[in-house]
Amino acid sequence: MKLYKNKVELQHILKPFFDQKKSLGFVPTMGALHEGHLSLVNEALEENDCVVVSIFVNPTQFDKKSDLKKYPRSLENDIDLLNSIHGDIIVFAPDATHLYGEHILSKPYSFSGLEFEMEGRHRAGHFDGVGTVLNLLFRIIRPNKAYFGQKDFQQLQIVKKLVEIEQLPITIVGCPIMREQNGVAMSSRNRRLNASQLNQAAMIYRTLKDVQNRFDQTSISKLKTRVKTLFEEHPEFELEYFEIANVNTLKSAERKRKTNTYRAFIAAWIGGVRLIDNIALN
Ligand code: AMP
Repeated sequence: MKLYKNKVELQHILKPFFDQKKSLGFVPTMGALHEGHLSLVNEALEENDCVVVSIFVNPTQFDKKSDLKKYPRSLENDIDLLNSIHGDIIVFAPDATHLYGEHILSKPYSFSGLEFEMEGRHRAGHFDGVGTVLNLLFRIIRPNKAYFGQKDFQQLQIVKKLVEIEQLPITIVGCPIMREQNGVAMSSRNRRLNASQLNQAAMIYRTLKDVQNRFDQTSISKLKTRVKTLFEEHPEFELEYFEIANVNTLKSAERKRKTNTYRAFIAAWIGGVRLIDNIALN
């Protein structure tokens, strides 16, 4: 395990890999690592000669300062976890001014409208922040492949668009959602829930499964009403959105078309923590 905070030192250690044309896999994270992150790292290890994991809580993708402040951080623990799966992972954990320079600002992007749906509608500037930090990291690390979880499905689609826009020769690999035994999607934010809230949070996945099971025989408007009612029966939650969207455009679907592929998406608050999850429908 090698930890770098400096981009020049990181590039120096990566140079032999470029020179020998070895394949480099990259897993960007914000740390507080869990099995979901490790599944991405394992896939990257299987498919590449060398793997870089970045650990950086990116300030420009947070719309609320309080959320950024409360975001869990555990660098030492993260390093131990990565060491436990493989001894040769390279970790890049820069601080914000080193990565961005003096002005920690995001660049405005246009992701063909993907940025206006769901997360984009509820978190102002979020995807500009995501695009900016990934563009910086991609240009420093120059990976052949970069790994992203379907947990953040909208982000995954936007990153595919980002490499097109920035003309970066990087293959974006989407990886399945890892879940706790009760179905809750693993997330660094789950650390902020107590045991009872973590149990209650399983309702999000139960609802998504219910929608998946009914999708073939039920209209989208009936499914939407049903989900709204289910959440009303669980006042511990505040439902921010429920959407059934086309996976390519991420636009909310009103009617099903056989040729389209859909996913259901939920964002909900419990105990002051915002959770997101999604599921494939057809
Ligand atoms: P984050 O540290 O939350 O920015 O996540 C870093 C990467 O891990 C992103 O590509 C996420 O989509 C992915 N990820 C987070 N949670 C999970 C999960 N439960 N299963 C699979 N991938 C995940």
